[in-house]
Amino acid sequence: MATIVFEGITKTFADAKKGGIFTAVDEATFEIKDKEFLVFVGPSGCGKTTSLRMIAGLEKQTGGNIYIDGQLVNHVHPKDRDIAMVFQDYALYPHMSIEQNLSFGLKNMKIEKSIIEEKVAYASKILGLDQLLDRKPRELSGGQRQRVALGRAIVRDPKVFLFDEPLSNLDAKLRVQMRIELAELHQRLGATIVYVTHDQVEAMTLGERIVVMNEGKVQQIASPQELYARPQNMFVAGFIGSPAMNFIPAYVLSENQLQMGDYLLDVPLDRQDYVRAYVNRQVMFGIRPEHILLDPKGSVEVKVNVFEHLGAENLLYFSFNEQSVISKTAGENFIKAGETIAMTFQMEKMHLFDIE
Ligand code: ADP
Ligand code: MG
Repeated sequence: MATIVFEGITKTFADAKKGGIFTAVDEATFEIKDKEFLVFVGPSGCGKTTSLRMIAGLEKQTGGNIYIDGQLVNHVHPKDRDIAMVFQDYALYPHMSIEQNLSFGLKNMKIEKSIIEEKVAYASKILGLDQLLDRKPRELSGGQRQRVALGRAIVRDPKVFLFDEPLSNLDAKLRVQMRIELAELHQRLGATIVYVTHDQVEAMTLGERIVVMNEGKVQQIASPQELYARPQNMFVAGFIGSPAMNFIPAYVLSENQLQMGDYLLDVPLDRQDYVRAYVNRQVMFGIRPEHILLDPKGSVEVKVNVFEHLGAENLLYFSFNEQSVISKTAGENFIKAGETIAMTFQMEKMHLFDIE
C-alpha cells in the first residue's frame, strides 16, 4: 500500500532577486491513490519538482501536511519514507560497472549478498540489461543508461517511485519507446508512481490521472479523457492538446445563439443547458482544431492563409473574427493557401470560459 496525501501544502523560498518571499507551491491539496500512475504537468517553474521533492522529504514544506499511507510524515527523514527517485540526469557512477551501479545502494544498506544478486538479476531482466551488466555507463546508449537509473530504483523495491522528467534528455524516438516501457513497467511492478513532466503528450499517454499546475497552483486534477473533454479553465484548455485549443471572443446572445463578429452561431439543443449560465455576457469561446471541419455546406467561410500537410492530417490556418485559428483535418483533403473554403464549427464540442 502507498497512498500520498497533500493537505494545503505551501512552499515558499526567500526571493534572492526581489527580496521578500516567493511562493513555489500554493496551498496544494490532492490525494494519490495506491498503485496509481499520477503525472504532474505544467510549464517550467510551476512547482513540479518542488512538489516531488516534498514527497521525498528532500524539501520541507512551509505549511500544510503530507501523509503517506495515512501516516503524517512532515518530520519523517527522506531515508525513512521508503521512496525512490529517478532524475533526468541519471547520476550513474561512471567508474562502476552496470552491475555495481545497480547493487551499490543495496550494499550500503547492508543487505545480504544473495538477496542483492537476486534483486539485481530481477531488475536487469525486466529492463533488458542482463547482457550489459559488465559494461561501464559510457559504453551504453542514452536509453540504456536511463534504464540503469530506473533499475537502481527498482532494486530497492520502494513503496513509491518518483520520476522527475526522466525522458527529457533522450531523443524524440527513444522518448516514445521509453514511454511505452514505463507504462508496461508500471503494470508489472504494481507500484505507486508519481511522474513529473512539462510535456503534455507524455502526461496524457502515461497518466491515469493528471495534476495540471501553473504558477504554483493546482489548476485541475482529472483523467486524461476528462482534462481533454472538460478543461476547467483557459489555462488547462490551452495547455492540453496539440495544436492548442482555439480561443475566439464571443457574445452570448441567448442559450441558443452566440455572436462572433459578423457571425451568428447556433447552439445545439444538448448544449443549451451549458450555455445558459453565460447569457448576455462577453466570454471566450474555445474550440479544438479537430472540431473545425471542412464542410461544403458549412456556415463559416474563411480564406486559408497557410496550409500544412503532415501526412495523416493537415493544418489549416485562417483568420476568424480577427483571431488566428487552426483547423486540423484529414490528410487527403488538399487545399491551397489563398483558397476560400466553407467550414463547420462542431458546436456540440465547444467550450465557454469566463474572461479573466
Ligand atoms: P518546475 O519543476 O515545475 O520547473 P520547480 O519546482 O523546480 O519548478 O520550481 C518552482 C519555482 O520555485 C521556480 O520559480 C524556482 O526558481 C523556485 N525554486 C525552486 N527551488 C528553489 C530554491 N531552492 N530556492 C529558491 N527558489 C527555488
Ligand atoms: Mg523541474
